Amino acid sequence: MKAWKLALADGISAIFGLLGPLRGSRGCRVLMYHALGAEVPGDRQAQYSMAADRFTVHMGNLAGSADLPVLGLGEGVRAGSGVVITFDDGYRDTLTVAAPILSELDFPFTVFVTPGFTRSGDKRYLSAPELRELATVPGVSIGAHGDSHCRLTECDDACLARELTESRAWLEDVLSRPVTTMSYPHGAVDGRVRAAAAAAGYEFAACSRFGAHGSDGDPLLIARTDIWAQDDRARLLAKTAGDWDWMGWRA
Ligand SMILES: [Zn+2]
Repeated sequence: MKAWKLALADGISAIFGLLGPLRGSRGCRVLMYHALGAEVPGDRQAQYSMAADRFTVHMGNLAGSADLPVLGLGEGVRAGSGVVITFDDGYRDTLTVAAPILSELDFPFTVFVTPGFTRSGDKRYLSAPELRELATVPGVSIGAHGDSHCRLTECDDACLARELTESRAWLEDVLSRPVTTMSYPHGAVDGRVRAAAAAAGYEFAACSRFGAHGSDGDPLLIARTDIWAQDDRARLLAKTAGDWDWMGWRA
């Protein structure tokens, strides 16, 4: 997001924040992070690779917030409360930077991995042995994120089924554990993709649409809150309070 758009969005969110008491029901707040240092492909506004120091501040903030406990994905989504920490794509720095910070705080977290990135040998992404190492971190859960990171809404039925089932099978083979969660690459999901995710056996699937997830929400269409490298403490607080949920209306 360009600087002027970000400033405008901050202003809209501030107004939305004032209306907070009128917004009614809250829910589980699923935060979406990407990289912590690695260059993210196509990230023209440098939104998706956060400095480690800033991530530490974010987590310190969550640790200090008694009314918003950090929960695992399944637990938070079922309860419709708390905060859930997720990472998309499977960057290597999820293991080297995020995991030590999160372990120190005993925070559970979920990493949605694209096997195609892992198999590519690109050093920005987790290798298979690193993925296995990540899986040993207490509180971690690993989900799929498509096999090639294409937009699932643009796949024909055969390609869609392949993206959903092969990513899951590959991760289960590498990790020797069941994989029942995923997030939709690029947030691209519609009714057909959701139905295919259900048919492929996923229990939970996360979107990229802003919002909170109520306990009666669809576990295969979990709203998330997109977190950006530019988000200081104040914006993180505004986002976790739901002041940015108006962004979900765009979808
Ligand atoms: Zn992604």
